Amino acid sequence: MTNTLTDGASLHALCQRLFPICRSITGDGVRQTLDILREYLPLSVHEVATGTPVFDWQVPREWRIREAWVEAPDGTRVVDFAQSNLHVMSYSTPVDAVMPLEQLQKNLHSLPEFPDRIPYRTSYYQERWGICLTERVRKALPEGDYRVRIDSALFDGSLTYGEFFVPGQTNAELLVSTHICHPSLANDNLSGIAVAVALAQALSSARDKPRYGVRFIFIPGTIGAITWLACNRPRLPKIRAGVVLSGVGDAGALTFKHSRRGDSALERAFARVVRSKHGQVRPYIPYGYDERQFCSPGIDIPMGCLMRTPYGEYDAYHSSADDLELITPEGLADSLDTCARALSSVLTSPRYRSLSPECEPQLGRRGLYDAIGGNNESKVLQLALLWMLAYADGEHTMDDLVAQSEIPRATLEKAAGLLQEAALLERLD
Ligand SMILES: [Zn+2]
Repeated sequence: MTNTLTDGASLHALCQRLFPICRSITGDGVRQTLDILREYLPLSVHEVATGTPVFDWQVPREWRIREAWVEAPDGTRVVDFAQSNLHVMSYSTPVDAVMPLEQLQKNLHSLPEFPDRIPYRTSYYQERWGICLTERVRKALPEGDYRVRIDSALFDGSLTYGEFFVPGQTNAELLVSTHICHPSLANDNLSGIAVAVALAQALSSARDKPRYGVRFIFIPGTIGAITWLACNRPRLPKIRAGVVLSGVGDAGALTFKHSRRGDSALERAFARVVRSKHGQVRPYIPYGYDERQFCSPGIDIPMGCLMRTPYGEYDAYHSSADDLELITPEGLADSLDTCARALSSVLTSPRYRSLSPECEPQLGRRGLYDAIGGNNESKVLQLALLWMLAYADGEHTMDDLVAQSEIPRATLEKAAGLLQEAALLERLD
């Protein structure tokens, strides 16, 4: 490992390095991106062949793009991929033809409401070609014949993803996933990549092994998640919970979206940290990023999603305005801090198991129940005993109990000690 990400500025610098690369769901853009990430993290790179069946899908053909441009009737190049990789619809089929403006228009994409922005468009599962350009340039196109050239190819190759694992004390795992398939767009999705790399560096350089292993995957959106899940089925039962990182670099407030199940210690920790930073916590909806795959009923990993301003709720989303100025060192650093705190809570906060979990144990018999009811302090302690027993399921952490009971941590710890002395509770780990 040669490069260490230490602060928001270094996270932003990594985004700057990755920004020019033309990524898609397959191809050399993903490989170049992972090559750069290997300077920061010794991640493994996996290739899955075109045509491999993955659940209800197939690994698609690989896409390669060399150049693309449009020449006006007078020979002027009015659109050029060399100036922005957003100019070509991702997965465009090749074309080299002369056509009148009217016909060209059918394959043009622009944003009338933002005349100076280039939209980001894809056509992964339908074969066609498209040129994306600003509304301003589009409106100024004169009548006449245009030459369009897209030097692309779709061929049998492979889908590429990266993976890095931080071993834990047990074989249970947490999963951190981020997509790596967008071209020159900064918040969606370079911010997620940078924060994931920095988090992986921090966890792997910690002195003690974490409670659980933490697996980081850098995958193309949707098909990459489906492919990873299909290739890793035996591992899935070990995964306790996870989080998708996406759009974590802008200056907006944090947003945490729960998993479909909504019941993991990790998402409780994320929700707490996000609320403490005045962010918002949302319930699960089956729309968004790769949590859709991880949360599908047959997979059922409790996978939340951390964002800042949610996708589609900022007007720069999926356009050339999602650039390096939209993401800030402060936003990136704050997202990293949020992840580090949420994971740290799950990886280090004590957990307990009741040794008498079927109904409440009889506390009075053990001198733990003050029937007469003493002063206020003993009442709180009584309550703390009940909270400790109620959540001594091996899943809830002391951090969960402090947040849910609103009883001081010291009182809960005292209650835990009394219950351990009475052989009613054991501390795990
Ligand atoms: Zn996107």
